[in-house]
Amino acid sequence: MSKRDTVVGPIELKGLPTLELEKLFESSGIKRYRARQVYDAMYISRIDNVQEMKLLPHALRETLDSAYRTESVHLKTLQVSDDGTKKFLFELLDGSAIESVLIPSEMAEEDGHPRRRTLCISTQVGCNLGCVFCATASLNLKRNLTSGEIVDQYLQAQKHSLKPITNIVFMGMGEPLNNYDAVMRAVEIFNDQRTLIVAPRRTTLSTAGVVPGIVRMADEKRIIKLAVSLHATTQGVREKLMPIARRWPLDTLMDALEYYYQKTHKGVTFEYIVFEGVNDSSDDVKRLARFARRFPSKVNVIPFHSIDFTHPEGFGAQLKPSTPKHFQQFIDRLRAEDVHVLIRSSSGKDIDAACGQLALSDKAK
Ligand code: SAH
Repeated sequence: MSKRDTVVGPIELKGLPTLELEKLFESSGIKRYRARQVYDAMYISRIDNVQEMKLLPHALRETLDSAYRTESVHLKTLQVSDDGTKKFLFELLDGSAIESVLIPSEMAEEDGHPRRRTLCISTQVGCNLGCVFCATASLNLKRNLTSGEIVDQYLQAQKHSLKPITNIVFMGMGEPLNNYDAVMRAVEIFNDQRTLIVAPRRTTLSTAGVVPGIVRMADEKRIIKLAVSLHATTQGVREKLMPIARRWPLDTLMDALEYYYQKTHKGVTFEYIVFEGVNDSSDDVKRLARFARRFPSKVNVIPFHSIDFTHPEGFGAQLKPSTPKHFQQFIDRLRAEDVHVLIRSSSGKDIDAACGQLALSDKAK
């Protein structure tokens, strides 16, 4: 564990896959089989308080209570949008804060109830990638989240949803592939057959293009869905939007994604924010279509959400969402090139909960 991952206070019980929890218990002189009981109590019975784990003997409950903690994130405020989106502001033990967003989507015609409930979770406190269009960039990076803090965002949010959360996306604050181990531990718990939290095909990780992380996912044959924030079709424009492009250029990124496809037989989803006059030309459409044809993939076209409340400077301050007409034209042209296009909705805009708007804005504090 690096210094950045250190959290003060008692050891977290949440966030360890069964085998690791067994090792932790054994090294503390607790019987190995107790680990599975505690694991099931946390993720199946959803018990947050060790004292309520009645299956455990009194003495063990006392030991666990004094040396460990089950609560990793603490709900501070909950905002509800006109469209039903919920934004959670969680406080961590060290006083840091993060946000998660619960988005009801795909209204089912028959009963008017949303068919999917997607939870967007954070992986870092702040972010150091500096994408000029993203509100989280204004916070800088404070530290990585622990796997317990990642898993607990789901467990706490679920308490505020009448129906089960059906999908998890690592698209909140931070870059998940810069916190690889903790994120993958959380994925193991989410996708575990015992917990039945969500299936791998309902778990999506979005990266700004951290090439070594993509290669590692390929080598480890990680079969959760992979989304990549592309946002440009030329190296020049991408560098202006996302400084990470200097470290891992577009062609290196595309090679890594092709490698991922060869290893996992899984395609990727390209995320593409359409900025007026920056990345929305007919040449962009042609280049984007060429990328999308290299291996099976989809393009998720995203409207640019305002981040004016963070007072962006330089190139970021000049960015504008494309007009509705140009946005539609861009989609039509892509479809004419046989690209599978998805359009991301802007749920939760009124409470700054839409993509790229998570910055612990004053409204949320
Ligand atoms: N660091 C990861 C995940 C967090 S961002 C990544 O970069 O993919 C989740 C998605 O929201 C990304 O596709 C990101 O590019 C997009 N996004 C960021 N700021 C946005 C904004 N202002 N409007 C619309 N989408 C934005």
